[in-house]
Amino acid sequence: MKNKKSIDVIVIGGGHAGVEAANAAANMGAEVLFITIDPSKIGVMSCNPAIGGIGKGHIVREVDALGGIMSKCADKGSIQYKVLNSSKGPAVRGPRCQADRKLYQSAIYEEVSSNNNIKILTAMVKSLIIRNSKVEGVILNNDKSILAKSVVLTTGTFLNGLIHIGSRKIYAGRINEKSSTSLAACLYSLKLPMARLKTGTPPRLLKNSINFKNLEEDKGDKRPQYFSMETKKVFNEQISCFSTWTNNETHNLIRNSFNESPIYNGDISSNGPRYCPSIEDKVSRFADRDRHRVMLEPEGIDSNTIYPNGISTSISEKIQQLMINTIKGLETARIEQPGYAIEYDHIDPRALKHTLELKKISGLFFAGQINGTTGYEEAAGQGIVAGINAALKQRQGNKEFYLDRTQAYIGVMIDDLVTRGTPEPYRMFTSRAEHRLFLRADNADLRLSDLAIKLGSISKTRKNIFLNNKTKINKIRDIAKEIRLSPNEAKNIKIDVSFDGKKRSLYDLLSFETCTLEKVKERFPQLKKFDVELLEKIKIESGYKIHIEKHKDSLDSYRIESKVKLPYNLNYKNIGGLSKECLLALEKIRPENLAQASKIPGITPAALTSVLLYTKKVKIKQKKLA
Ligand code: FAD
Repeated sequence: MKNKKSIDVIVIGGGHAGVEAANAAANMGAEVLFITIDPSKIGVMSCNPAIGGIGKGHIVREVDALGGIMSKCADKGSIQYKVLNSSKGPAVRGPRCQADRKLYQSAIYEEVSSNNNIKILTAMVKSLIIRNSKVEGVILNNDKSILAKSVVLTTGTFLNGLIHIGSRKIYAGRINEKSSTSLAACLYSLKLPMARLKTGTPPRLLKNSINFKNLEEDKGDKRPQYFSMETKKVFNEQISCFSTWTNNETHNLIRNSFNESPIYNGDISSNGPRYCPSIEDKVSRFADRDRHRVMLEPEGIDSNTIYPNGISTSISEKIQQLMINTIKGLETARIEQPGYAIEYDHIDPRALKHTLELKKISGLFFAGQINGTTGYEEAAGQGIVAGINAALKQRQGNKEFYLDRTQAYIGVMIDDLVTRGTPEPYRMFTSRAEHRLFLRADNADLRLSDLAIKLGSISKTRKNIFLNNKTKINKIRDIAKEIRLSPNEAKNIKIDVSFDGKKRSLYDLLSFETCTLEKVKERFPQLKKFDVELLEKIKIESGYKIHIEKHKDSLDSYRIESKVKLPYNLNYKNIGGLSKECLLALEKIRPENLAQASKIPGITPAALTSVLLYTKKVKIKQKKLA
C-alpha cells in the first residue's frame, strides 16, 4: 500500500456539504476525489425545494463570498425570489428562493463535473484508514483502498438511517436510498462521540389533483435579490406559491391517530428540530391553535409535484391521505410520495476544531448534517470551511482557516457547534448571531471575499466582479461623504432634520428611510451611474453606522479574546480556583481560545480570568526556559 499514490483530498458524500467541500478544495488547487453512492443524486434537495430564508440566506451569501456554488446554482434554479422578514431591518432580512429541483441539481452537477480538479467516483465508503492518529485514506465497499492526505466526511442522514412511516420501518439514508451502516460502525469503532437525531418531511402531492381556485396566491418579489454576485438576470419563469390552512377536522384526525405516529407511540425517541415541528407536534404542542398554515410550493416549472410546506409527518400513509383531504383546496389531492421521519447517527461536534477537523485524528474533517445540523445552507457553510482546510493541509506551513463570531454566520454556527454541541438538529437563526447588525446578507462579500482571494477558494470571474464592486462601493462612500447638505437642502429631497443650521453629509442622510435611492440618483448626477444594489449597500451601511459604533467595544473584546490561544494539552487541573463544573466543561471542550471558552455554558467570568492568568504564567515560564 505504501507505494500507492496518495490523493490530496477525498470528499465522501454528494450532498450540500460535499459539493462545497470538493469545490473549495479543488479551487485551491487540490486534487479531489469526490466519492458518492449515486452521482445522479449529487446536490439533491432531500426536503423542501427552496434555498435561503431567515439566517440561512445570510449563509448562502457568505458561501458565495467565499467562492462556493450553492448561491449561483440557486439563482440558476430559482422560480420565485422572496426576501423574508422584509418589514424588519435589513440586518435580519432573509433572502430566499423557491427552486426548481431539477434545475438546481443540474446546475450543481455541472459545476462539480466541469471542475478539472474534481474526479467523481461512484462508490460507497465502508471504512477509513487511520494510522498513528492520522487519516490515510478510505476503503470502499468492494474492499478497494484509496489513499488520501485528507478526508472530508459529509454523509448527511445516511449513517444508520432508519425511515419511519407509521409502523413501517425502512433502513435507508433517504427514501429509496441505502443507508450507510459499515461507515457508521467504523466511526463507533474509533470511539468517536456519536448520538442520534431525527428529521422529517411532508408527503408530496400531485399538482393536477389540487384545486387552487380559492387559495391565497403568493407571488414573489418584484425586484429579485439574487444570491450570487455573478447573477445579473432572472434565469427562469417566476411562478406563484399558494397557501391554505389546516383546520379542526385535520387536528381531530391527527389527535385520534397518535397511535399511528412513531413520534407519539414511542417508536422514535431521538430529538427532532423543535423549530420545524411535524404536524403531529404542532397539534399536540399548540393545542389552542385551530389552524396551521400550509404553503403549497411547486417543485419545478414543469413538475407535477407540490411540496406542502408545514405538515411534515411520519403518521401512517392511510392517515396522511385522510389528513390531506381535510384541507381546503386539497379535498381531492392525491399523495405521490408519503411523508416520513428519519433517524440517523451523527457525531457530537464538540469533538471537532473550528476548522472542522477532528481533534484526535489529523486530516479527518466532518461537515453537514453528520455534525448535527439540519438544512442545505448550514451544510454548505460547513462544507466550504472543511474543504478549504482540507486543501490547506496540503500546503506548506500547516495554516488553518476558520471564521469567528464577528466575521460570519458560518463562524457563529461552527463556534456554537464545536463549543456547545447540539442536542437537537441545529439550524441557523439571526438571533444566534450577537453581532448581527454587522453580519448582514448585504455585506457578506465585503466581509469575506478578500479572505477568499487570499486563500484562492474563489474563481477568477467572481474575484474580478468582487474587486470591481468594491472599488465602486468605496467610490460611492467617498462621494456620499463629500456631499454636504444644509437642513433646507435636505428638506428638498424629503429628509427632515432639525433646522440647526448644521450641514450633514449625504452619507449620514442616507440612513433616513425617506431618503430613497431614486431621489438620490435624480438629485446627484455623480451617483447616477452606479447600480442601485451598490448604492443600497451604502444606504444600509449608513443606517447601521451608529449601532455598530456602539457595539464596537464588544466586537473588539471578542477579537482580543480570540487571540488568546489555549493549548490543546493545557492541564486545567493545575489552574487554582476553578469550580468542578468549570473544570469538567473546559476539559471536555478543550477550547482553542479564550473567546471560545467564554461561550461554554457554565463558564463564569471568574473562571475565565483564572484561565487567562494561568496561560500567561505558563507562557512566561516557557519563554524563560527557551
Ligand atoms: P446529504 O444532503 O444528506 O448528502 C449526503 C450524501 O452522502 C449523499 O450524497 C449520500 O449518497 C452520500 N453518502 C452517504 N454515505 C456514503 C458513503 N458511505 N459513501 C459515499 N457516499 C455516501 N433541512 C431543512 O432545512 N429543513 C427540513 O425541513 C429538512 N427536512 C429533511 C427531511 C428529510 C427526510 C431529510 C432526509 C432531510 C431533511 N433536511 C431538512 C435536511 C437537509 O436535507 C440536510 O440538512 C442536507 O441535505 C444535509 O446536507 P449534507 O450534505 O450534510 O448531506
